[in-house]
Amino acid sequence: MSRWDDLSEGAHKMLADFDELDLADIAASYGAAIQRVRALHRPVEHCGRTICVECSGWADGSTDSSPAAHPCATIKALDNQETT
Ligand SMILES: [Zn+2]
Repeated sequence: MSRWDDLSEGAHKMLADFDELDLADIAASYGAAIQRVRALHRPVEHCGRTICVECSGWADGSTDSSPAAHPCATIKALDNQETT
């Protein structure tokens, strides 16, 4: 008795439809989404500090919010780093 045999008929069908191509597509779109987040939260030099463009609201040499150091909490989360 394998774990496959324990699964329901519906689960067998779902897993059969979920082939390696789907997994590759999911991995690719997931990777692309992470790249878009990293592009938003890119570093920029501001007043001698490296800050996050997105978190600081940086544009045209000034920030809308208080400057947030880069890597910011979002980048640290993507890198599996503790944010505390
Ligand atoms: Zn950020």
